[in-house]
Parts: sequence; C-alpha cells; structure tokens
Amino acid sequence: MRYPALIVDKEKVLNNARAVAELCRSRGIDVWGVAKGLSGDPRLAEIYADAGFRGICDSRLHNLRKIKDSGSSLPRQLIRIAMTSELRELAVTAEMSLQSDIGTIKELDRICVSSGVSHEVLMMIDVGDLREGFWPTELPEAARELKDLKGGVKIGGVAANFACACGVLPTPGNMARLVECRDVIAGIVGCEMPTVSVGGTCCLKIIEDGLAPEGVNVLRICEGVLLGTDTAFDRVVPYLAGDALTVTAEVVECRQKPSMPVGEVGYQAFGEKPVFIDRGLRKRAILAIGRQDVNIDRITPLDENVEIVTASSDHLIVDVTNAGVMYKAGDLMSFRPRYPAMLACATSEYVEVIFE
Ligand SMILES: *Cc1c(COP(=O)(O)O)cnc(C)c1O
Repeated sequence: MRYPALIVDKEKVLNNARAVAELCRSRGIDVWGVAKGLSGDPRLAEIYADAGFRGICDSRLHNLRKIKDSGSSLPRQLIRIAMTSELRELAVTAEMSLQSDIGTIKELDRICVSSGVSHEVLMMIDVGDLREGFWPTELPEAARELKDLKGGVKIGGVAANFACACGVLPTPGNMARLVECRDVIAGIVGCEMPTVSVGGTCCLKIIEDGLAPEGVNVLRICEGVLLGTDTAFDRVVPYLAGDALTVTAEVVECRQKPSMPVGEVGYQAFGEKPVFIDRGLRKRAILAIGRQDVNIDRITPLDENVEIVTASSDHLIVDVTNAGVMYKAGDLMSFRPRYPAMLACATSEYVEVIFE
C-alpha cells in the first residue's frame, strides 16, 4: 500500500447510504448521492447505486465525466450552476443540472436542441443562505422567460441549498417557501414541475423529525453518508457510522526535542507566526503528509494520546510523548477526517484513495 492513504470502508458507507435511503423512502423522499466528497470516485457512485439512490450529483463536470466513463447506470446531475463555457459538455455528460441564470438556461436549451439531446433543469432558489439561486421575488419574471424555451431544456422543478455559504439552517418554513416557489413557476409556465430538491446533510434532521413539508421529494446528500456527521447542526447522526473513513500516514522520524524552538522566530512557511509553550523535552513524530494533502485542523488522531503540533506542506508534526506506542520510522498513524480534510485528501494526487 502507498501512503498517505484515505481508506474508505465500503461496507460502512453502504450501510450509511442504505440507512439514509430507507429513512427518506419512509417519508416519500428520493435520495441523490453527492460524489464530490471523494472527487467523484466511480467506486462511490457504485455504492450509491447499490444503496438504492436515484442518481449521482457532483459539482464538477470533470467528476461526472469520470462516473459516466465508468459505466455507472444512474442519471447524473451537475449541482454547481454551470459555466457558460461548459454547457456543450454538460449537455452530453449529465442528464440534469441546477441553474440560476436565465441566459445560461436559454443557451443550454439552444445547445440541446442543436445536438438533439434533452436536459432537465432544476431552478435554484435562494431561500436565505445567500449563495446561488433566484431570489423569490424575481420568479414571476424569470418564469415568463422560460416560456420561450425551444424544448431542449425541460424545467423539472426547483432546488435549494441550506447552510452552505452563510450557515442558514433548513426549517419546515423555508422548505415550504421553496415548494411555494415551485408552484409560482409551474403556474406561470403552465406545466407540471414535480421535483423539489433540498440539500445537503443538514436537511436530514427535518426529514427525520417528519417535518419536511408536503412536496419536498428529493434529498441531495454527501457528508452524512461518508462521515456520519451533520456539521451544520453540529451533531453526530446517531444511526450512521462515523468511522467509515480513515487517513493513514507513515512516520518518517521520531525523536525527543525541546518544545521551544532554538533561535529567533519569524513567520513560518504559511505566513503564520506560531506561539510556543515551554513543556520541556517532548517526543515528536514526523509524518509524511502535509498541508498539500490534508487540512490539519480537521483531522483527529485515532490514538487519543497523540497531539497535532503543526505542519508544513509535506510534514505533519505530532507530539507522541504520552502515546502508549513507541513510534518509530516506518510505523503508521491514523486519523479521522472531517469534511474539509476528506475533500483535501480526495483531491491531492499524493493521497491514495483505497476502498476496502
Ligand atoms: C455539496 C452539496 C450537497 C451535499 O451536501 P452535504 O452537506 O455534504 O451532504 C448538496 N447540494 C449541493 C448543491 C452541494 O453543493
């Protein structure tokens, strides 16, 4: 095995995915699995398919293309509103997308008509988190523009994000506003728009509690399935495994050193001026993983007697003075990643992603 590695326990992710699928099914909600947490890894798409998820979402066409090329049978949805420059590729790579710009939707429609494909768009609505989306008061005018579409793009419904840019939490109230927005658009365009899609993991809480308003029928989820956490509500989801992913790195040096640096301290490699506390001589291990590979504030050592001290691009320094193990070069040390650390590992070409 090559290190550093991000190790994915397939069985645990599958069980998490099944638990979410079952909960949502019991509330009349379909689940679409978001693959961006592991950079659109086709092996994750396969797990989502096995769990009964209805489709695969990713924010990058690059990832959706990988999934398509792997032969995945599920429909694909681009969930970052598209760049105009990628519409041609979008039309042949994904069946669905989230959009929030009328000009972009019209251009996509033209491209789909000329290349003889059809594409479903969900209108992204901003119900308060202030990232992408039509502002609800703009909808009547936007909906009138949609009457001019030439049949390449079909509007399938609406979608919203919660707790992404500003941390605005989902509530039965703002979800109900989303359903109302769908009704406004559908009324003006004069056709059925069945889908009301919400995301991400923070929406699970409302669904669990049986409080999702009538009409909400799709959940897009990533974090909960992979990590068992719900960052927005700051909770561990009680029925999901929180230990499916592990980051493992190799020790390349371990020795006793003073806790105070020797010499005048300026700024370190990342422009920070570190502060030190004199704790006498400490035993420190250096791991061959660094800030290029992982977000060091967002990993927790599995050995609770190990403390992260600092890191540079390629080296992670940990204090192992109190560890039960006598670490030496060649030993492995493992960590539990949180969302940003998982993203960083999955995108670092230096980190091997292993499904086992
Ligand atoms: C990332 C993302 C999700 C998934 O969010 P999680 O909180 O990781 O479950 C859902 N929808 C959109 C648009 C996203 O970008």
